[in-house]
Amino acid sequence: MNQELLRQMLAYYRDIGVEDVYRRVPQAPVAAAQKPDLEVPLPPLLPADDSLEQIRADIGDCKRCRLHEGRHNIVFGVGNEQTKLVFVGEGPGEDEDLQGIPFVGRAGQLLTAMIENTAQKEGLPLKRADVYICNVVKCRPPKNRAPEADEMEICGQFLARQLSVLKPKAICSLGGTATKALLGTKEGVTKMRGKWFKWRDIPVMVTYHPSYLLRAYNQDAKREAWEDLKTLFHFVYD
Ligand code: SF4
Repeated sequence: MNQELLRQMLAYYRDIGVEDVYRRVPQAPVAAAQKPDLEVPLPPLLPADDSLEQIRADIGDCKRCRLHEGRHNIVFGVGNEQTKLVFVGEGPGEDEDLQGIPFVGRAGQLLTAMIENTAQKEGLPLKRADVYICNVVKCRPPKNRAPEADEMEICGQFLARQLSVLKPKAICSLGGTATKALLGTKEGVTKMRGKWFKWRDIPVMVTYHPSYLLRAYNQDAKREAWEDLKTLFHFVYD
């Protein structure tokens, strides 16, 4: 781990109220009968009694990674905080950065249509406002590039706290970046979509990011994404 990342992670721990971070020092072997109690508890990653308000307060005017440099707004997340379903995307685009709300540009409008049209066809009274939507990184990457590994690691701590507070019945991972952040895999979305995985104990359905569906000439991807949402909605709401 490089010095800058270590510094940022320690700053994050301080922000969530962890005063001391311990490092396990290799110990010389000792006879079992004489073995002293050397176990030092590791600091908790998640604060007790966490809440979305607390997480947003901890983010503050965040400068923990380089993505703060070009942002207009931190895009925290939006939706029903009692939801059973959370959608996780990659990061804010231009419209999201300007409005401070995730998935409001063209890709966001497609996501809204996908959620509401699929639900309607399946006879489910589900609207976009009934789910919660957020991203792996809360600030817009320059020129809409993908977030880098260290940015995802730093900001991903806030995503982990959001998901731990929301405790949805399922998570929908939109695209490769979210899937990499949630599941730690380099496998492509094409191979993973439509299948169930787990983030901690919460089932995760992987599907395409709506911005990919806007670009794709291949109509198969759209049809597959609709199939993925059908499977997801019936699992969550039946
Ligand atoms: S992307 Fe996340 S960690 Fe980086 S500056 Fe924005 S809020 Fe902070």
